[in-house]
Amino acid sequence: MMAIFFSVQVYAQETSPSSLLLHAARVFDGNEMHSGLSVLVKDGHIAKIEPRHSFKAGDASTDIDLGDATLLPGFIELHAHLTFRKVPADIVLRHGVTTVRDVGGPVHQPYGGDGSLRVLTSGQIITAPHGYPIVTMGARDLAIPVASEAEAREAVRRLISQGAVIIKIALEPGSEAGAPWSSHHDHAHAAPHGQSAWPMLRESIVKAVVDEAHRHQRKVSAHVAEPSGIQVALNAGVDEWAHMPCNRIPKSLLKQARAQNVTIISTIDTLSKCGGIAHNTTVWSELGGELLYGTEIAHPDIPWGIDAQELMYLMHLGKMKLLDALRAATAKAGQYLGIPLLGTIQPGAPADLIAIRGDPEQHLKRLEYPDLVISGGQVIVNYFDPQ
Ligand SMILES: [Zn+2]
Repeated sequence: MMAIFFSVQVYAQETSPSSLLLHAARVFDGNEMHSGLSVLVKDGHIAKIEPRHSFKAGDASTDIDLGDATLLPGFIELHAHLTFRKVPADIVLRHGVTTVRDVGGPVHQPYGGDGSLRVLTSGQIITAPHGYPIVTMGARDLAIPVASEAEAREAVRRLISQGAVIIKIALEPGSEAGAPWSSHHDHAHAAPHGQSAWPMLRESIVKAVVDEAHRHQRKVSAHVAEPSGIQVALNAGVDEWAHMPCNRIPKSLLKQARAQNVTIISTIDTLSKCGGIAHNTTVWSELGGELLYGTEIAHPDIPWGIDAQELMYLMHLGKMKLLDALRAATAKAGQYLGIPLLGTIQPGAPADLIAIRGDPEQHLKRLEYPDLVISGGQVIVNYFDPQ
């Protein structure tokens, strides 16, 4: 095992070429599945995606023929807590996720994407004094308590100046059965089921957060899990829900969210013990609501990389075809982050690529341990035979 690992490492170093031509039976470009296309990578970006016969010898310094394989954009994980939970970035990258949005942890400027995991952050979660997540996990590095609109605006400005790509807030009364955050804390302080106990941000403060964030061209994501927090988020114009809510949400609220163009980050796998998750996901999908891929990397039982189970939930509960689920983790997620062409394979896109043997329609789980991973044109993993 060590020997294999070592030889792959050496091979990866030898083949981080200036240009690279990849041939694969199938290419999913972030939007559609194609056959017979080859992809030319140059200077960290996709230079060309064309039928194989349109390339000639010498077009690239290195050719890799993947054979009966599927080439895809690297996955974009929109809900992780890498830093706070000390998840190693290189493990995540080696398992097919090339971009992570860390939503709850230390704030920093975006970095990576050039042979290392691309990491964007929201920074700390804005919440009420003694509110979630402070009540369960403390405030250090994870949360900023605010007690007034002025404090909220100041926190938003500071986070953005330090690199936050989105502002995260918590609207969590602590009443949901089956949610992973319910099992982590001291039950002496837990809210009894169905009863609101943890303090939540007032609507006027949430409105101030949203207004200040929008002034700086940032969206606001709310940790919400039950109707009372959702009502505040909707009234205040919050853009995104960081989770599919755990408790059953009345259709009227989901309809209002759809009308306000709310985006929901899935995180269904980690919330699979929640009573409302199936209902909410199915109704949201029937309403045509935007549902993007996120898994809460760092939560127990969630892989440090691509989570095929999350894709299965998107398909079974979200009524998506596989290609829709893949779009939610690639092209649509990249567009949502506002990074041009991220999550796609087309000329000019960052060369963040993965490949698996065979077709993901038959081998979905293989996405969890891809045989090829490229970040910004740098070969990180290559278990295909050298040419
Ligand atoms: Zn989270």
